[in-house]
Amino acid sequence: MAKNIQAIRGMNDYLPADTAIWQRIEGTLKQVLASYGYSEIRLPIVEHTPLFSRAIGEVTDVVEKEMYTFEDRNGESLTLRPEGTAGCVRAGIEHGLLYNQEQRLWYTGPMFRYERPQKGRYRQFHQMGVEVFGLQGPDVDAELIMMTARWWKALGIAEHVDLELNSIGSLDARANYRSALVAFLEQHQDVLDEDCKRRMYTNPLRVLDSKNPDIQKLLNDAPTLGEFLDEESREHFSGLCALLDDAGINYRINQRLVRGLDYYNRTVFEWVTSSLGSQGTVCGGGRYDGLVEQLGGRATPAVGFAMGMERLVLLVQAVNPEFEPTRIVDVYVIASGQGVQSAAMQLAEKLRDADPALKMMTNFGGGNFKKQFARADKWGARIALVLGEDEVKAGQVVVKDLRTGDQQTLAQSDAAATLRTLLQ
Ligand code: ATP
Ligand code: MG
Repeated sequence: MAKNIQAIRGMNDYLPADTAIWQRIEGTLKQVLASYGYSEIRLPIVEHTPLFSRAIGEVTDVVEKEMYTFEDRNGESLTLRPEGTAGCVRAGIEHGLLYNQEQRLWYTGPMFRYERPQKGRYRQFHQMGVEVFGLQGPDVDAELIMMTARWWKALGIAEHVDLELNSIGSLDARANYRSALVAFLEQHQDVLDEDCKRRMYTNPLRVLDSKNPDIQKLLNDAPTLGEFLDEESREHFSGLCALLDDAGINYRINQRLVRGLDYYNRTVFEWVTSSLGSQGTVCGGGRYDGLVEQLGGRATPAVGFAMGMERLVLLVQAVNPEFEPTRIVDVYVIASGQGVQSAAMQLAEKLRDADPALKMMTNFGGGNFKKQFARADKWGARIALVLGEDEVKAGQVVVKDLRTGDQQTLAQSDAAATLRTLLQ
Protein backbone atom coordinates (compact mmCIF):
# COMPACT_ATOMS: atom_id res chain seq x y z
CA MET A 1 0.00 0.00 0.00
CA ALA A 2 1.25 3.48 -0.81
CA LYS A 3 2.50 5.56 2.11
CA ASN A 4 0.10 8.31 3.13
CA ILE A 5 1.19 11.81 2.24
CA GLN A 6 1.53 13.97 5.33
CA ALA A 7 1.60 17.69 5.96
CA ILE A 8 4.90 19.55 5.58
CA ARG A 9 6.95 19.76 8.78
CA GLY A 10 6.17 22.94 10.70
CA MET A 11 2.96 23.60 8.76
CA ASN A 12 -0.09 22.86 10.85
CA ASP A 13 -3.67 21.86 10.23
CA TYR A 14 -6.14 23.80 12.34
CA LEU A 15 -8.98 21.43 13.17
CA PRO A 16 -12.46 22.45 14.33
CA ALA A 17 -11.42 22.23 17.99
CA ASP A 18 -8.66 24.77 17.21
CA THR A 19 -10.60 27.07 14.91
CA ALA A 20 -13.31 27.61 17.53
CA ILE A 21 -10.87 29.37 19.87
CA TRP A 22 -9.05 31.08 16.97
CA GLN A 23 -12.31 32.58 15.76
CA ARG A 24 -13.21 33.87 19.17
CA ILE A 25 -9.76 35.42 19.64
CA GLU A 26 -9.71 36.92 16.14
CA GLY A 27 -13.19 38.32 16.73
CA THR A 28 -12.00 40.05 19.90
CA LEU A 29 -8.93 41.49 18.17
CA LYS A 30 -10.96 42.79 15.22
CA GLN A 31 -13.53 44.40 17.47
CA VAL A 32 -10.80 46.36 19.24
CA LEU A 33 -9.21 47.39 15.90
CA ALA A 34 -12.57 48.68 14.70
CA SER A 35 -12.99 50.68 17.90
CA TYR A 36 -9.87 52.68 16.90
CA GLY A 37 -10.95 53.19 13.28
CA TYR A 38 -8.50 50.77 11.62
CA SER A 39 -9.36 49.14 8.25
CA GLU A 40 -8.44 45.76 6.88
CA ILE A 41 -6.11 45.31 3.90
CA ARG A 42 -5.71 41.92 2.16
CA LEU A 43 -2.48 41.23 0.36
CA PRO A 44 -0.98 38.41 -1.72
CA ILE A 45 0.93 35.64 0.00
CA VAL A 46 3.61 35.60 -2.71
CA GLU A 47 5.70 38.60 -3.79
CA HIS A 48 8.80 39.24 -5.91
CA THR A 49 11.84 38.15 -3.90
CA PRO A 50 13.70 41.52 -4.08
CA LEU A 51 10.83 43.20 -2.20
CA PHE A 52 11.77 41.26 0.92
CA SER A 53 15.54 41.38 0.54
CA ARG A 54 15.38 45.16 0.05
CA ALA A 55 12.86 45.86 2.81
CA ILE A 56 13.95 43.44 5.52
CA GLY A 57 17.70 43.70 4.79
CA GLU A 58 20.12 41.29 3.12
CA VAL A 59 22.00 40.55 6.34
CA THR A 60 19.11 39.47 8.55
CA ASP A 61 18.17 36.00 9.75
CA VAL A 62 14.93 36.15 7.77
CA VAL A 63 16.53 36.94 4.41
CA GLU A 64 19.74 34.96 4.91
CA LYS A 65 18.20 31.68 5.96
CA GLU A 66 14.47 31.69 6.54
CA MET A 67 12.76 32.57 3.26
CA TYR A 68 10.79 30.16 1.10
CA THR A 69 12.08 31.28 -2.29
CA PHE A 70 11.41 29.51 -5.57
CA GLU A 71 11.34 30.10 -9.29
CA ASP A 72 8.00 30.12 -11.02
CA ARG A 73 7.52 28.67 -14.49
CA ASN A 74 8.97 31.80 -16.08
CA GLY A 75 12.14 31.54 -14.04
CA GLU A 76 11.18 34.53 -11.94
CA SER A 77 12.23 34.48 -8.27
CA LEU A 78 9.24 34.61 -5.95
CA THR A 79 9.01 34.31 -2.16
CA LEU A 80 6.27 33.23 0.22
CA ARG A 81 5.90 36.26 2.47
CA PRO A 82 7.87 35.96 5.73
CA GLU A 83 6.13 39.05 7.16
CA GLY A 84 3.47 41.54 6.13
CA THR A 85 5.00 45.02 6.28
CA ALA A 86 6.93 44.85 2.99
CA GLY A 87 3.86 43.78 1.01
CA CYS A 88 1.73 46.39 2.73
CA VAL A 89 4.16 49.18 1.79
CA ARG A 90 4.43 47.81 -1.75
CA ALA A 91 0.63 47.88 -2.11
CA GLY A 92 0.39 51.35 -0.54
CA ILE A 93 2.88 52.77 -3.05
CA GLU A 94 1.33 50.89 -5.99
CA HIS A 95 -2.19 52.17 -5.25
CA GLY A 96 -1.24 55.68 -4.16
CA LEU A 97 -2.48 55.19 -0.61
CA LEU A 98 0.47 56.73 1.18
CA TYR A 99 1.71 60.07 -0.07
CA ASN A 100 0.16 62.93 1.89
CA GLN A 101 -2.44 60.64 3.38
CA GLU A 102 -3.18 58.92 6.63
CA GLN A 103 -3.76 55.19 6.66
CA ARG A 104 -4.55 53.01 9.64
CA LEU A 105 -4.46 49.43 8.40
CA TRP A 106 -4.48 45.88 9.70
CA TYR A 107 -4.11 42.46 8.09
CA THR A 108 -4.03 38.87 9.19
CA GLY A 109 -2.91 35.69 7.49
CA PRO A 110 -0.19 33.08 7.07
CA MET A 111 3.53 33.91 6.96
CA PHE A 112 6.32 31.49 6.03
CA ARG A 113 9.78 31.08 7.49
CA TYR A 114 12.13 28.13 7.22
CA GLU A 115 12.95 27.72 10.93
CA ARG A 116 13.39 24.77 13.25
CA PRO A 117 9.84 23.88 14.29
CA GLN A 118 9.12 23.79 18.03
CA LYS A 119 6.39 24.99 20.37
CA GLY A 120 5.49 28.54 19.33
CA ARG A 121 7.74 28.43 16.24
CA TYR A 122 6.49 27.04 12.95
CA ARG A 123 7.25 27.23 9.24
CA GLN A 124 3.77 28.41 8.38
CA PHE A 125 2.45 30.67 11.13
CA HIS A 126 -0.07 33.47 11.31
CA GLN A 127 0.28 37.10 12.18
CA MET A 128 -2.11 39.90 12.90
CA GLY A 129 -0.30 43.04 11.77
CA VAL A 130 -1.09 46.73 12.07
CA GLU A 131 0.53 49.51 9.99
CA VAL A 132 -0.06 53.26 10.22
CA PHE A 133 1.19 55.65 7.51
CA GLY A 134 1.46 59.43 7.35
CA LEU A 135 1.69 60.22 11.07
CA GLN A 136 5.02 61.09 12.62
CA GLY A 137 4.36 62.01 16.24
CA PRO A 138 4.81 59.72 19.23
CA ASP A 139 1.03 59.88 19.85
CA VAL A 140 0.34 57.21 17.24
CA ASP A 141 3.15 55.00 18.59
CA ALA A 142 1.44 55.31 21.98
CA GLU A 143 -1.96 54.50 20.49
CA LEU A 144 -0.67 51.27 18.95
CA ILE A 145 0.68 50.21 22.33
CA MET A 146 -2.54 51.22 24.10
CA MET A 147 -4.52 49.24 21.56
CA THR A 148 -2.43 46.11 22.17
CA ALA A 149 -2.84 46.62 25.92
CA ARG A 150 -6.61 46.66 25.34
CA TRP A 151 -6.28 43.38 23.44
CA TRP A 152 -4.52 41.75 26.38
CA LYS A 153 -7.21 42.93 28.76
CA ALA A 154 -10.01 41.67 26.52
CA LEU A 155 -8.30 38.27 26.28
CA GLY A 156 -7.59 38.05 30.01
CA ILE A 157 -3.78 37.84 29.61
CA ALA A 158 -2.79 41.35 30.72
CA GLU A 159 -1.02 40.01 33.82
CA HIS A 160 1.14 37.72 31.71
CA VAL A 161 2.72 40.09 29.18
CA ASP A 162 5.32 42.79 29.72
CA LEU A 163 6.20 45.69 27.47
CA GLU A 164 9.81 46.34 26.49
CA LEU A 165 10.61 49.61 24.82
CA ASN A 166 13.59 51.28 23.19
CA SER A 167 14.56 53.93 20.70
CA ILE A 168 17.12 53.01 18.08
CA GLY A 169 17.30 56.59 16.77
CA SER A 170 17.91 57.87 13.28
CA LEU A 171 19.92 56.11 10.58
CA ASP A 172 22.88 58.43 11.27
CA ALA A 173 22.74 57.93 15.02
CA ARG A 174 22.72 54.22 14.46
CA ALA A 175 25.68 54.39 12.08
CA ASN A 176 27.69 56.26 14.72
CA TYR A 177 26.70 53.78 17.38
CA ARG A 178 27.55 50.94 15.08
CA SER A 179 31.14 52.16 14.69
CA ALA A 180 31.53 52.57 18.44
CA LEU A 181 30.08 49.11 19.08
CA VAL A 182 32.34 47.47 16.46
CA ALA A 183 35.38 49.21 17.98
CA PHE A 184 34.40 47.85 21.39
CA LEU A 185 33.77 44.33 20.09
CA GLU A 186 37.11 44.30 18.28
CA GLN A 187 38.82 44.80 21.62
CA HIS A 188 37.04 41.76 23.06
CA GLN A 189 37.32 39.25 20.20
CA ASP A 190 38.41 36.54 22.65
CA VAL A 191 34.96 36.50 24.31
CA LEU A 192 32.94 36.52 21.08
CA ASP A 193 31.34 33.32 19.79
CA GLU A 194 31.27 32.41 16.09
CA ASP A 195 27.83 33.90 15.57
CA CYS A 196 28.85 37.25 17.02
CA LYS A 197 32.11 37.32 15.09
CA ARG A 198 30.15 36.81 11.91
CA ARG A 199 27.63 39.51 12.81
CA MET A 200 30.23 41.96 14.07
CA TYR A 201 30.85 43.45 10.62
CA THR A 202 27.68 42.50 8.76
CA ASN A 203 25.00 43.47 11.29
CA PRO A 204 26.68 44.35 14.60
CA LEU A 205 23.50 45.53 16.35
CA ARG A 206 22.28 41.96 16.26
CA VAL A 207 25.08 41.09 18.68
CA LEU A 208 23.01 42.97 21.28
CA ASP A 209 20.37 40.28 21.33
CA SER A 210 22.76 37.36 21.52
CA LYS A 211 21.43 34.73 23.93
CA ASN A 212 24.98 33.82 25.07
CA PRO A 213 25.34 34.83 28.77
CA ASP A 214 29.06 35.63 28.33
CA ILE A 215 28.21 38.07 25.55
CA GLN A 216 25.43 39.64 27.60
CA LYS A 217 27.93 40.11 30.44
CA LEU A 218 30.46 41.67 28.09
CA LEU A 219 27.79 44.06 26.81
CA ASN A 220 27.38 45.55 30.28
CA ASP A 221 30.58 47.48 29.55
CA ALA A 222 29.77 48.27 25.90
CA PRO A 223 28.67 51.70 24.70
CA THR A 224 24.86 51.97 24.69
CA LEU A 225 22.57 53.10 21.92
CA GLY A 226 21.02 55.70 24.23
CA GLU A 227 24.27 57.69 24.36
CA PHE A 228 24.19 58.08 20.57
CA LEU A 229 20.57 59.10 20.04
CA ASP A 230 19.93 62.20 17.95
CA GLU A 231 17.98 65.03 19.54
CA GLU A 232 14.72 64.45 17.58
CA SER A 233 14.66 60.77 18.42
CA ARG A 234 15.33 61.58 22.05
CA GLU A 235 12.35 63.96 22.10
CA HIS A 236 10.15 61.51 20.26
CA PHE A 237 11.01 58.83 22.78
CA SER A 238 10.40 60.95 25.85
CA GLY A 239 7.09 62.06 24.29
CA LEU A 240 6.10 58.42 23.87
CA CYS A 241 7.11 57.53 27.43
CA ALA A 242 5.07 60.44 28.81
CA LEU A 243 1.97 59.36 26.88
CA LEU A 244 2.35 55.80 28.16
CA ASP A 245 2.84 57.06 31.72
CA ASP A 246 -0.37 59.10 31.44
CA ALA A 247 -2.20 56.05 30.10
CA GLY A 248 -0.98 53.97 33.06
CA ILE A 249 0.90 51.52 30.86
CA ASN A 250 3.98 49.97 32.45
CA TYR A 251 7.08 49.40 30.39
CA ARG A 252 10.72 48.52 30.78
CA ILE A 253 13.27 50.42 28.73
CA ASN A 254 15.59 47.80 27.25
CA GLN A 255 18.59 49.44 25.60
CA ARG A 256 19.47 46.15 23.91
CA LEU A 257 16.16 45.77 22.14
CA VAL A 258 16.93 46.22 18.43
CA ARG A 259 14.52 43.86 16.57
CA GLY A 260 15.54 41.52 13.78
CA LEU A 261 14.50 43.44 10.68
CA ASP A 262 16.53 46.32 9.25
CA TYR A 263 13.76 48.77 8.48
CA TYR A 264 13.09 50.07 11.98
CA ASN A 265 14.10 53.48 13.34
CA ARG A 266 13.28 55.39 16.54
CA THR A 267 10.62 53.49 18.52
CA VAL A 268 10.90 49.72 18.82
CA PHE A 269 8.85 47.61 21.22
CA GLU A 270 8.04 44.04 22.13
CA TRP A 271 5.42 42.42 24.31
CA VAL A 272 7.02 39.43 26.00
CA THR A 273 5.76 36.66 28.21
CA SER A 274 7.50 34.17 30.47
CA SER A 275 4.61 31.70 30.16
CA LEU A 276 5.62 30.16 26.82
CA GLY A 277 9.20 29.00 27.37
CA SER A 278 11.79 30.38 25.00
CA GLN A 279 9.33 31.57 22.34
CA GLY A 280 8.47 34.54 24.56
CA THR A 281 7.85 37.41 22.14
CA VAL A 282 4.16 37.65 21.38
CA CYS A 283 4.20 40.87 19.48
CA GLY A 284 6.83 43.27 18.17
CA GLY A 285 7.10 46.40 16.10
CA GLY A 286 8.21 49.96 15.79
CA ARG A 287 8.70 52.93 13.48
CA TYR A 288 9.98 52.54 9.95
CA ASP A 289 10.00 56.08 8.61
CA GLY A 290 12.50 55.30 5.83
CA LEU A 291 10.94 52.20 4.30
CA VAL A 292 8.39 53.77 1.95
CA GLU A 293 11.08 55.89 0.30
CA GLN A 294 13.49 52.99 0.24
CA LEU A 295 10.93 50.96 -1.73
CA GLY A 296 10.43 53.73 -4.27
CA GLY A 297 7.61 55.81 -2.76
CA ARG A 298 7.76 59.36 -1.48
CA ALA A 299 9.01 59.76 2.09
CA THR A 300 6.17 58.80 4.46
CA PRO A 301 6.39 58.29 8.20
CA ALA A 302 5.19 54.87 9.30
CA VAL A 303 4.81 52.71 12.38
CA GLY A 304 3.47 49.22 12.93
CA PHE A 305 3.76 45.88 14.63
CA ALA A 306 3.04 42.22 14.07
CA MET A 307 1.65 39.72 16.52
CA GLY A 308 2.17 35.98 16.33
CA MET A 309 -1.27 34.39 16.44
CA GLU A 310 -0.09 30.90 17.44
CA ARG A 311 1.80 32.29 20.43
CA LEU A 312 -1.20 34.40 21.40
CA VAL A 313 -3.53 31.40 21.24
CA LEU A 314 -1.07 29.29 23.27
CA LEU A 315 -0.84 32.04 25.86
CA VAL A 316 -4.60 32.47 26.18
CA GLN A 317 -4.98 28.70 26.57
CA ALA A 318 -2.16 28.57 29.13
CA VAL A 319 -3.26 31.39 31.41
CA ASN A 320 -6.97 32.01 30.86
CA PRO A 321 -8.98 28.79 30.97
CA GLU A 322 -12.18 30.85 31.25
CA PHE A 323 -11.75 32.05 27.69
CA GLU A 324 -14.13 29.60 26.06
CA PRO A 325 -14.23 28.90 22.36
CA THR A 326 -17.44 29.95 20.66
CA ARG A 327 -20.23 27.41 21.03
CA ILE A 328 -20.91 25.52 17.80
CA VAL A 329 -24.56 24.69 18.42
CA ASP A 330 -27.21 26.37 20.59
CA VAL A 331 -30.17 24.35 19.42
CA TYR A 332 -30.33 20.72 18.27
CA VAL A 333 -33.38 19.57 16.31
CA ILE A 334 -34.57 16.05 17.10
CA ALA A 335 -37.12 14.25 14.91
CA SER A 336 -38.57 10.77 14.96
CA GLY A 337 -41.53 9.20 13.16
CA GLN A 338 -43.04 8.77 9.75
CA GLY A 339 -42.48 11.89 7.58
CA VAL A 340 -41.25 13.93 10.52
CA GLN A 341 -37.71 14.58 9.19
CA SER A 342 -38.95 16.88 6.42
CA ALA A 343 -41.15 18.81 8.86
CA ALA A 344 -38.15 19.20 11.21
CA MET A 345 -35.97 20.57 8.42
CA GLN A 346 -38.69 23.03 7.42
CA LEU A 347 -39.12 24.21 11.01
CA ALA A 348 -35.35 24.72 11.29
CA GLU A 349 -35.33 26.78 8.08
CA LYS A 350 -38.17 28.98 9.39
CA LEU A 351 -36.33 29.55 12.66
CA ARG A 352 -33.17 30.53 10.77
CA ASP A 353 -35.28 33.02 8.78
CA ALA A 354 -36.56 34.48 12.04
CA ASP A 355 -33.17 34.66 13.73
CA PRO A 356 -30.13 34.48 11.45
CA ALA A 357 -27.74 34.43 14.43
CA LEU A 358 -29.23 31.23 15.84
CA LYS A 359 -26.81 28.30 15.77
CA MET A 360 -28.92 25.27 15.04
CA MET A 361 -28.09 21.76 13.94
CA THR A 362 -30.57 19.19 12.65
CA ASN A 363 -30.21 15.52 13.54
CA PHE A 364 -29.48 13.29 10.55
CA GLY A 365 -29.27 9.55 10.25
CA GLY A 366 -32.34 8.86 12.38
CA GLY A 367 -32.01 7.00 15.67
CA ASN A 368 -34.40 6.78 18.60
CA PHE A 369 -34.99 9.79 20.86
CA LYS A 370 -32.38 8.63 23.37
CA LYS A 371 -29.66 8.44 20.71
CA GLN A 372 -30.60 11.83 19.33
CA PHE A 373 -30.52 13.45 22.78
CA ALA A 374 -27.05 11.97 23.28
CA ARG A 375 -25.94 13.64 20.04
CA ALA A 376 -27.41 16.97 21.22
CA ASP A 377 -25.22 16.68 24.33
CA LYS A 378 -22.18 15.74 22.31
CA TRP A 379 -22.49 18.95 20.29
CA GLY A 380 -22.91 20.97 23.47
CA ALA A 381 -26.40 22.21 22.57
CA ARG A 382 -28.31 24.15 25.23
CA ILE A 383 -31.76 23.45 23.87
CA ALA A 384 -33.39 20.57 22.02
CA LEU A 385 -36.38 20.99 19.76
CA VAL A 386 -38.26 17.71 19.61
CA LEU A 387 -40.71 16.68 16.91
CA GLY A 388 -42.73 13.44 16.67
CA GLU A 389 -45.72 12.53 14.56
CA ASP A 390 -48.18 14.01 17.11
CA GLU A 391 -46.39 17.36 17.24
CA VAL A 392 -46.26 17.62 13.45
CA LYS A 393 -49.99 16.89 13.18
CA ALA A 394 -50.81 19.54 15.80
CA GLY A 395 -48.35 22.14 14.43
CA GLN A 396 -46.50 22.01 17.75
CA VAL A 397 -42.97 21.41 18.97
CA VAL A 398 -41.43 20.37 22.31
CA VAL A 399 -38.75 22.75 23.56
CA LYS A 400 -36.43 21.20 26.11
CA ASP A 401 -33.86 23.16 28.09
CA LEU A 402 -30.96 20.69 28.29
CA ARG A 403 -29.41 22.35 31.34
CA THR A 404 -32.44 22.37 33.60
CA GLY A 405 -34.41 19.54 31.98
CA ASP A 406 -37.52 21.78 31.83
CA GLN A 407 -39.67 21.21 28.81
CA GLN A 408 -42.75 22.74 27.28
CA THR A 409 -44.95 22.03 24.27
CA LEU A 410 -45.85 25.06 22.20
CA ALA A 411 -47.11 26.12 18.80
CA GLN A 412 -44.36 26.08 16.16
CA SER A 413 -45.19 29.71 15.39
CA ASP A 414 -44.17 30.66 18.94
CA ALA A 415 -40.88 28.73 18.88
CA ALA A 416 -38.68 31.60 17.63
CA ALA A 417 -39.74 33.95 20.42
CA THR A 418 -39.31 31.26 23.09
CA LEU A 419 -35.82 30.34 21.85
CA ARG A 420 -34.83 33.98 21.96
CA THR A 421 -35.87 34.23 25.61
CA LEU A 422 -34.26 30.95 26.64
CA LEU A 423 -30.94 31.74 24.96
CA GLN A 424 -30.57 35.23 26.44
P1 ATP B 1 11.65 35.53 17.16
O1 ATP B 1 12.70 36.36 17.83
O2 ATP B 1 10.79 34.77 18.11
O3 ATP B 1 12.19 34.70 16.04
P2 ATP B 1 11.04 37.61 15.30
O4 ATP B 1 11.75 38.80 15.84
O5 ATP B 1 11.65 36.85 14.19
O6 ATP B 1 10.66 36.60 16.49
P3 ATP B 1 9.00 39.19 14.01
O7 ATP B 1 9.58 39.06 12.67
O8 ATP B 1 9.08 40.48 14.69
O9 ATP B 1 9.56 38.03 14.96
O10 ATP B 1 7.47 38.70 13.98
C1 ATP B 1 6.50 39.18 14.91
C2 ATP B 1 5.91 38.04 15.71
O11 ATP B 1 5.54 36.95 14.88
C3 ATP B 1 6.84 37.44 16.73
O12 ATP B 1 6.87 38.20 17.89
C4 ATP B 1 6.21 36.09 16.96
O13 ATP B 1 5.12 36.19 17.88
C5 ATP B 1 5.66 35.74 15.60
N1 ATP B 1 6.58 34.82 14.91
C6 ATP B 1 7.73 35.10 14.25
N2 ATP B 1 8.27 33.99 13.72
C7 ATP B 1 7.44 32.97 14.05
C8 ATP B 1 7.42 31.56 13.77
N3 ATP B 1 8.37 30.98 13.04
N4 ATP B 1 6.40 30.82 14.29
C9 ATP B 1 5.41 31.38 15.02
N5 ATP B 1 5.37 32.71 15.29
C10 ATP B 1 6.36 33.49 14.82
MG1 MG C 1 12.74 35.06 14.09
